[in-house]
Amino acid sequence: MAAPSICPACEATGARHFITHRGMELLECGSCRLVFMAEMPSGAVLEATYIEPDECGLALVHAKAASKMRRLRRRARALARYAQGPGRFLDVGANAGFMTEAMRELGFDSHGVEPHPPSVAYAREHYPRNSYHQTFMEAFEPGGLTFAAVYCSEVIEHSPDINAFIIAIRRVMEPGAVLYLTTPDIGHWRRPRDLTSWDGFKPPSHCVYFNPRALVGFLERHGFRILRRRLAFKPGIKLIAARA
Ligand SMILES: [Zn+2]
Repeated sequence: MAAPSICPACEATGARHFITHRGMELLECGSCRLVFMAEMPSGAVLEATYIEPDECGLALVHAKAASKMRRLRRRARALARYAQGPGRFLDVGANAGFMTEAMRELGFDSHGVEPHPPSVAYAREHYPRNSYHQTFMEAFEPGGLTFAAVYCSEVIEHSPDINAFIIAIRRVMEPGAVLYLTTPDIGHWRRPRDLTSWDGFKPPSHCVYFNPRALVGFLERHGFRILRRRLAFKPGIKLIAARA
């Protein structure tokens, strides 16, 4: 018998086998139904994913820049409505800097954390009025800066240690600061029944799969209060939470 597996979201023990995909086993928590990799990817796997150059990916990003900016300006306005006045903003997993820029346009002092060097280079070239920090969130040294608003879209599912990740985010948030978080929703009614045909299912790159209840419980355990959950017609979760 293997040792009881502890759910990283709710800390319940005894997670059960869920699926084995290409030799990787995923477990499901019997309590909050979080699905997670039995063995989390190592730092080496993460480096391979985020540190290697990816010029093709960036060409695609550039081609879609205008439509992405339009979508993110809407999200920026939604986030800014919940933030207490324009203050300092942090984009966690800033990618090519679109949301970082969209929040700057609304008057925020805008910062992005992004480990992928070509993405940071792109952001610095195209949106130079923001500050970029090329690192993983867990390693981010804000130098005393705190933030009134944080955006973290399609990032937490990549984290092999979601607790360290959310603690790293919360510690740089001002009291009452707001967090806009999105992640795929494995429990969504429109998620393909065949998990392997779902574009959200990407182990080992995606190592944690939330459902809304698991995510809300996880955030509340870390001292967040949910302000708003946005309806998603694709299998994803979008919510805004405040640092309680
Ligand atoms: Zn759980």
